[in-house]
Amino acid sequence: MQTKVIKFGGSSLADAEQFRKVAAIVKADPARRYVVASAPGKRSGEDEKVTDMLYLCHTLASQHESYEAVFSKIEARYREIIAGLELAYSLDEEFQKIRAAIDKQTTPDYLASRGEYLNSLVLAKFLGFAFIDAASGVFFNEDGTFDDRHTYKALSALLSAETYAVIPGFYGSLPNGSIKTFSRGGSDITGSIVARAANAAIYENWTDVSGMLMADPRIVNNPRVIPEITYRELRELAYMGATVMHEEAIFPVREARIPINIRNTNAPSDPGTMIVSQSDTIPEDTIITGVAGRLGFSSITIEKDRMNTEVGFGRKVLGVLEHYGVSFEHVPTGIDTMSVIASTASITPNRDAIVGRIFRDTSADSVTVEGSMALIAVVGRGMVSAKGTAGRVCTALADSGVNIRMIDQGSGEHNILLGVDEKDYAAALNAIYEEFVHES
Ligand code: ADP
Ligand code: ASP
Ligand code: MG
Repeated sequence: MQTKVIKFGGSSLADAEQFRKVAAIVKADPARRYVVASAPGKRSGEDEKVTDMLYLCHTLASQHESYEAVFSKIEARYREIIAGLELAYSLDEEFQKIRAAIDKQTTPDYLASRGEYLNSLVLAKFLGFAFIDAASGVFFNEDGTFDDRHTYKALSALLSAETYAVIPGFYGSLPNGSIKTFSRGGSDITGSIVARAANAAIYENWTDVSGMLMADPRIVNNPRVIPEITYRELRELAYMGATVMHEEAIFPVREARIPINIRNTNAPSDPGTMIVSQSDTIPEDTIITGVAGRLGFSSITIEKDRMNTEVGFGRKVLGVLEHYGVSFEHVPTGIDTMSVIASTASITPNRDAIVGRIFRDTSADSVTVEGSMALIAVVGRGMVSAKGTAGRVCTALADSGVNIRMIDQGSGEHNILLGVDEKDYAAALNAIYEEFVHES
């Protein structure tokens, strides 16, 4: 029998009604054997995610404040789901264990992981599937990196012992047995790891939108769905803010050439987006595949006459940033100028020291830091064969009154990176989207 691995995000498992939709989707296809579950997400705009509440409990407990009010809200979320599903099941013992762990000053990772752990117990019960704890199948090295060899060996064995199973997303174990989580949104990564371990024919990632959209639906009104996208394009868009899927989730399945299908739990007949290793189809009516962006960047600009003739100049500048633990996003250069773009959060704590040290190490004429920059990536495999894409982007932005602080075309010619003022971010995304998407 073919095997499909199927991951449901937080909004897909936010309440009993959503659980019923999930069960209908899983049961509609017997190949949907391994289900990866997230913690309950938001039921509406103002609602709280269980993961956020668990982190809050940890913060309160570590400040010796009462976490009781928050913890009882978490308990209530699960009780409501169990009651809504009419399950004869109780998590009381589990809640007891978690309270005891908080009182013994457990780690934030352990606590945060309980969101997916509890939800998966309930989902396994509801579906009549086995429960496989990610703590015994997903492993990290001592330094916190993912331990692929150990994981695939152990997880493949656990999976092959069960025809149908639910596995919690987001976490695994360190060599000493303690729990470690991936970064936020990391259940997407678990889904990909399980797909690889199960040698799945497909990894279905079910969320609350009908696929990867050409732009963030919170900023551009009703953007089009991207029917087919390459891993590389998806990773670029995901990294630059198209948060529908964690950018690290690509790797495990890409290596095994397992396609990903992003689908909508609330519209299960929509085909969603297929993510494939190579796509021969280039969207006919659009040159770009998508546009995404992120706020919160600063540029450090260094000016020095005849910089271009100085061997090792860039290394000195980047050496200073390395010293202060700043990882840079981008380094646009001119003849006598060099800029480094990095997140404002990583520069701010050492801003003056960084500027002083760059002056000292490079004898620059000037070093200036400018904040409030948004980075926007325009991504598309169709851009390689279409001439003048960068020109169209610039004209569209100029026509909307948006000033471009930085522009660079990636060497693969399938992406253009732009820097604009944060205040112009929404206008810029909309202008680019409008320029390339003509309603047919
Ligand atoms: P899940 O809880 O299912 O993992 P997420 O909230 O992590 O879902 O991701 C889905 C959300 O990503 C969507 O509701 C949407 O608001 C947001 N999003 C941002 N950019 C995009 C995009 N380009 N395409 C689709 N969704 C996007
Ligand atoms: N529940 C975790 C989070 O909120 C992981 C996930 O949803 O993928 O980040
Ligand atoms: Mg997510």
